[in-house]
Amino acid sequence: MKALLIAESRDGKLLASSYEPYAFARQLGAEVVTFLVGSAADLPQIDGPLYLAEAARCGDYNPAMHKALLLQVVAKERPDLVVFSHSSYGWDLAPRLALALKAAQVSEVVGFADGAFVVPACNAKLRRTVKSQTPLTVVTLQAGAFSPAELPTGTPQVTGLSVEADSRLEFLGYEAAEKGGVDLTRAEVIVSAGRGIGKRENVEIIARLAKALGGELGASRPVVDAGWVEHSRQVGTTGQTVAPRLYLACGISGAIQHLAGMKRAGFIVAINKDKDAPIGEVADVLVVADALQLASTLEGKLAS
Ligand SMILES: Cc1cc2nc3c(=O)[nH]c(=O)nc-3n(C[C@H](O)[C@H](O)[C@H](O)COP(=O)(O)OP(=O)(O)OC[C@H]3O[C@@H](n4cnc5c(N)ncnc54)[C@H](O)[C@@H]3O)c2cc1C
Repeated sequence: MKALLIAESRDGKLLASSYEPYAFARQLGAEVVTFLVGSAADLPQIDGPLYLAEAARCGDYNPAMHKALLLQVVAKERPDLVVFSHSSYGWDLAPRLALALKAAQVSEVVGFADGAFVVPACNAKLRRTVKSQTPLTVVTLQAGAFSPAELPTGTPQVTGLSVEADSRLEFLGYEAAEKGGVDLTRAEVIVSAGRGIGKRENVEIIARLAKALGGELGASRPVVDAGWVEHSRQVGTTGQTVAPRLYLACGISGAIQHLAGMKRAGFIVAINKDKDAPIGEVADVLVVADALQLASTLEGKLAS
């Protein structure tokens, strides 16, 4: 099997997420070819062919041009898989490419088993396995689902690419998200509230425990989306990536996007009513209990 891996760069700097398609291809035992619109000054350290188009000439993002560049590489390399990250770049470009190639597209892949892709369904409560019916398949990988244990240290053999493509789009640039709120990356202790806490009023119980432990309050995305906690406290792929000494997850199931933001914590304690909650796979200690009851008892003990 041959996989064409799509690396990404921003402002001439390679994004670390570029190694996730690589980790996925390694898991499949695939031969790899890499594609990057970026800068020769910052290339992925992956052995094998690398097709490079200079972003200075093609634009950091230009769908028509980048698709035309990719079509050239696909025609030459004839991969079985084209692998994107499920980033703003990947989710825009992958379907354009799949349509041009009349290839099946599978989005947000989190696993691969017996020739089938595993993807989340129903807000990640269920998983589906899907098989592609086309010889070439375009996939996007959910962020954090495939992180390499160690970064590769290879040297690519670079082939330059260029293209003339009509485009009615002009790339204006990226806008930095507004900074502010809490910097959880510096916290030694984080106590996070998940949907399992039930309602906004219960956030206070978790926040009090965080304070009693000398730490900060964190939250999973549904808690933030519901407006119970501000976004700067969200942990996960679309929140902050944290590495405290102690991470206490209260009523959090352990979805991949949440784990990606906290699995490097020194010690993880999860409180969950469900003994089979996936967070148990990364937790050092899983306490099967009502998170609110345990949090207020603990806080009471610490305060006395
Ligand atoms: C593109 C994308 C990006 C995302 N980014 C993020 C992100 O950055 N961060 C993030 O967190 N999520 C993110 N998500 C959402 C993610 O997929 C999950 O939906 C989310 O993490 C689930 O949050 P949760 O664990 O709080 O809720 P649920 O999955 O609903 O889990 C609630 C848990 O609480 C337990 N529970 C219920 N009652 C109690 C109780 N009384 N005591 C103890 N336990 C109880 C349940 O058993 C369950 O395990 C993203 C999703 C997508 C598609």
